[in-house]
Amino acid sequence: MDTTTTSRARGLQPAERMSRLGTESAFEVLAAARALEAQGHHVVHLEIGEPDFDTPKNIVDAGIKALKDGWTHYGPSAGLPDVRDAIAKDVSKRRGIKVDAENVVITPGAKPVMFYTMLDLVESGDEVIYPDPGFPIYESLVKFLEATPVPVLLKEENDFRLDVGELLDKVTDRTRLLIINSPHNPTGSVLTAADLEAIGKVCSERNIPVLADEIYSRIIYDGEHRSIWSEPGMDELTIILDGMSKTYAMTGWRLGYGVMPEAMAKRVAQLMTNSNSCTASFSQRALMEGLTGDQSDVDRMVSTFKSRRELVVKLLNDIPGVSCRMPAGAFYAFANVKSLGRNVKELADDLLQKHKVATLGGTAFGDGGEGYLRLSYAASEADLREGIARIARGLA
Ligand code: PLP
Repeated sequence: MDTTTTSRARGLQPAERMSRLGTESAFEVLAAARALEAQGHHVVHLEIGEPDFDTPKNIVDAGIKALKDGWTHYGPSAGLPDVRDAIAKDVSKRRGIKVDAENVVITPGAKPVMFYTMLDLVESGDEVIYPDPGFPIYESLVKFLEATPVPVLLKEENDFRLDVGELLDKVTDRTRLLIINSPHNPTGSVLTAADLEAIGKVCSERNIPVLADEIYSRIIYDGEHRSIWSEPGMDELTIILDGMSKTYAMTGWRLGYGVMPEAMAKRVAQLMTNSNSCTASFSQRALMEGLTGDQSDVDRMVSTFKSRRELVVKLLNDIPGVSCRMPAGAFYAFANVKSLGRNVKELADDLLQKHKVATLGGTAFGDGGEGYLRLSYAASEADLREGIARIARGLA
């Protein structure tokens, strides 16, 4: 058989790498919950990580105006220059650092920053360290790129913060990238100034780049957000991932950005040219309004999350056999259900199918999530009360 026939015979058989790609279970659980709703059931949604608020009106109006004003064409791959500049100013101000427009690449949602960072830095066989439990796409991309996933366990007794001793145990001369995420999905933990200092020291001494997933940087309940970028030497090794999805309730607009050393930003812009060409121009105008306009909707949203956080933690702790720490940021509660001795994926499936409340088993975020259920409290107070009552019945 000649090679033309062989390749034709493969038809739509996927490339081998596709078998290494993972997924984000939240989307699968959402689909299962929607299927139940289509059969007429009432489901309480505590699974998906998106604010239950509308995008602030000033931002929507700016998007509509931009469409009417003709922002409907291609723009530069790294983003519109004045919008990159506004992001650089905002990032600098909120983190006490100094970055410029040349450090910024605007992307369709923040997720592509993970992909581009790894495509740019990680070779097959390299090791990438990331938190477990952690956002599932980190591990998925590491495997996809034939690199070696090196999870580092986040322990409840350390408030689910990355322990520097444990990090050091995982560092080898093949370590190519460390991923940190603060505030953290799924546990709501926040790295302290001392944590960041110690992690920064480990990485700057060994020249290890850090992908700092700061998508929840504005959803923090005590104190100010800090970035590892501000640690000595880390301005040359950090890629900040942030965006509009969570802070401004703009998940469906697909607006995110990466902030990184300038030479890398040029390469990431080239990856944008090769994949998306650019982020939608009118949505970038809306981003501009989000960052530079009135922030009172964001403040209101965060203070609402804060009071819900207290409610959810109390209601969960009232359930026999369940305990839950107070999260310091993001909008997730990570409830310990170890005493029930159940496989948490099966438990979450049961809660959905029998009690019509959608949650995620902690193992959706890695083996380190066994024994936990993740609840998103980006839901109304009424839904939170009803959903947790259903959980209590399901666990009884
Ligand atoms: N990083 C973390 C930790 C997240 O939880 C999410 C979304 O759930 C993202 C990144 C992706 O954000 P975006 O929707 O802007 O791509």
